[in-house]
Amino acid sequence: SNNLMAGKRGLIMGLANDKSIAWGIAKALADAGAELAFSYQGDALKKRVAPLAEQLGSDILVDCDVADEASVDALFDTLKAKWGKLDFVVHAIGFSDKNELRGRYVDTSRNNFTMTMDISVYSFTAVCARAAAMMTEGGSLLTLTYYGAEQVMPHYNVMGVAKAALEASVKYIAEDLGKDGIRCNAISAGPIKTLAASGIGDFRYIMKWNELNSPLRRNVTQEEVGKAALYLLSDLGSGTTGETLHVDAGYHVVGMKAVDAPDI
Ligand code: NAD
Repeated sequence: SNNLMAGKRGLIMGLANDKSIAWGIAKALADAGAELAFSYQGDALKKRVAPLAEQLGSDILVDCDVADEASVDALFDTLKAKWGKLDFVVHAIGFSDKNELRGRYVDTSRNNFTMTMDISVYSFTAVCARAAAMMTEGGSLLTLTYYGAEQVMPHYNVMGVAKAALEASVKYIAEDLGKDGIRCNAISAGPIKTLAASGIGDFRYIMKWNELNSPLRRNVTQEEVGKAALYLLSDLGSGTTGETLHVDAGYHVVGMKAVDAPDI
């Protein structure tokens, strides 16, 4: 453990279970001395999320559906009442109809396109605006993205289009809030087996492909994403904003399947 986050208070959004990327990040932050609040979506997740929050010494656990403006307002009202000031936010939320995370992107429905963009992109902007109002001594905002924003990945479809918009929004938010000492960044994580990922077609194949073809010849863990998040959310990242940091075993630099990689 270290003291990188001593005296800092932050909100973690998107914890569903102990496989969540949000959990890897929360553990790294708690280990560094941060005080954490959690938001989760819907009553069904509460019994899973409450013991995890408790394990990290958190007593602020709020139900929040980011598709609902009033629910997001209520979350920040609660934080304002409990803490007043906020130092960081982690947004680890994304959603799309899994029937459209297979087949062709071109067949995406208008309804699912709108919903995917709303939950996976706009919610981060809505959260940043509210969080920034509480970041009176500067702060750091972080979201999660994927390589499917940059290049076409199998089945990622509308989620790839949403992540591209999310990465662009990170840059605009960085500019808007930078003069107030607030930084905004994304981590582009390699494939990790989580609840959300299990909705993507052929996800096991995608993981295997990354394992065999990334420079490190393996996949990354929630803990490794946690360590990168600690950099971006702590003073170590004080000079970094508007950035998308790849934590993907280097997969994003590969232009061609390596000669020594076995066929799969
Ligand atoms: P996860 O299923 O553990 O987390 C996704 C979270 O989004 C859940 O907690 C879910 O409750 C929440 N969510 C969905 N709709 C919501 C809504 N309307 N309101 C509030 N919360 C809502 O899966 P994860 O893989 O940890 O996903 C976290 C983030 O990481 C997502 O943005 C995902 O796209 C991104 N990501 C994941 C991978 C991967 O391979 N797992 C790779 C790169 C990026």
